[in-house]
Amino acid sequence: MQTDTLASPDVCSAVPSPYRTATSALQAKVPEIFRAKGNYFHLTNGRTIFDAVGGAAVNNLGHGDERIADAICEQIATVDYCRSTLFTSKTTCDIADFLVKTTEGAMKRALFVSSGTEANEAMMKLCTLYFRSIGQPQRVRFIARKNSYHGSSVSTLTLGFHMRRRELFQGLLSLDGPNISHVSRAHAYRDLMPNESEHEYVARLAEELDNEFQRLGPDSVCAFVAEPIVGAGLGGAVAPKGYFEAMKQVCHKYGALLVMDEVMCGLGRTGTYHAWQHPDVGTAPDLQTVGKTLAGGYVPVASLLVGQTVARAMEERREFFIHGSTYEDHPVVEAAALRVQQIVRDEGLVENVQRQGAMLRELLQQRLGSHPCVGHIRGRGLMCGVEITQPWSKVPYCSDLRVTYRICEAGMDLPRDVAETLGFDGISMTPNQGCSDGLEGDVVVLTPAFNISTADVAA
Ligand code: PLP
Repeated sequence: MQTDTLASPDVCSAVPSPYRTATSALQAKVPEIFRAKGNYFHLTNGRTIFDAVGGAAVNNLGHGDERIADAICEQIATVDYCRSTLFTSKTTCDIADFLVKTTEGAMKRALFVSSGTEANEAMMKLCTLYFRSIGQPQRVRFIARKNSYHGSSVSTLTLGFHMRRRELFQGLLSLDGPNISHVSRAHAYRDLMPNESEHEYVARLAEELDNEFQRLGPDSVCAFVAEPIVGAGLGGAVAPKGYFEAMKQVCHKYGALLVMDEVMCGLGRTGTYHAWQHPDVGTAPDLQTVGKTLAGGYVPVASLLVGQTVARAMEERREFFIHGSTYEDHPVVEAAALRVQQIVRDEGLVENVQRQGAMLRELLQQRLGSHPCVGHIRGRGLMCGVEITQPWSKVPYCSDLRVTYRICEAGMDLPRDVAETLGFDGISMTPNQGCSDGLEGDVVVLTPAFNISTADVAA
């Protein structure tokens, strides 16, 4: 009888992920990493994979950085845990101050939780508490956008509109009634009308949001929530210039908040520390969530940043926000986050993102731009998407063909001569497989580490 070793993924008891399930028909075994160092994964089967997506857009410093291991160990030896409702720690204050200072006065407070999903959950709770505290308890509704993604819990799946991730749970998503509704995405590549200027497109989207406020009853809405650059839903779709200023005007006209979900695009990923600091966004949100690169993937942590208006109003009324999770403001993950963010600052990595991102898009354009099946190359900084379409058109392939999965699988298994030239056997990329209506787009996404070199980009 054949016995599997414990190292064999076939006998691993972990729940298989959708990507593994999707690939399992084509791939007998899920690759197992025995060592992750720099931008490389070394697999148990002897192969070396270049990580072009920073894990899941998290590893901004690459893998195996001992400075982060040291910060984590030091924190465990100093203050390993404290219950955030009773105590605080220096590390909590230091990382909160660090993040708040990067916002040019826009944000006043930071709460640390375990995931981007949880940060968005906390954001929804805080919005309703804020309005209750200022005497508007009827404001409980949220307006979000089609094709956005805000997390994997029931309420954040409902807030988002990522059809492939929602479709299995329709029965559960009962919040999808009056409290959450969705307006159009901002995606000029597909939605700009013939002869429409970007300026007119932005005005059309602002009018749609205004109409949605009117339809719901303007004083029942807490907030409009959007990703400055859409990640999981659209693979790096950048909103047109002026879009967020126009949306903010509508929100503020009706006394509601503008929330930006920067879980994927924030903290330097798109070439400015916050995505909203790019001149084309040009306006700060009232509340913001960040995650992913906050601690570089070394530990799970995300944060809700609370803007001046909300924080001040609640503090004046001595209202405190209690999110209530066991691991909020955990000193160990905060120590990792602080060290990662200090390194990003001290090594000028946001500037490197700008440089390498511009070069990456230029090279993608040169090498793939004229390929008949490359519909669109997009993104900002080191958040790049290549949308795959049927030849010379914007028509997506039938989703049963799983084109992006197949491209990413091919990337993991480069032809021998290519592998020999590059010095690695495969490249890890993210398949954003849209729905059959093609609305979400089939996009291969690249989100490498912030310290990627010019030579890596050129390869
Ligand atoms: N918001 C955005 C924009 C995201 O891209 C993600 C994850 O991809 C989330 C929220 C959820 O974050 P997490 O997976 O850490 O819960």
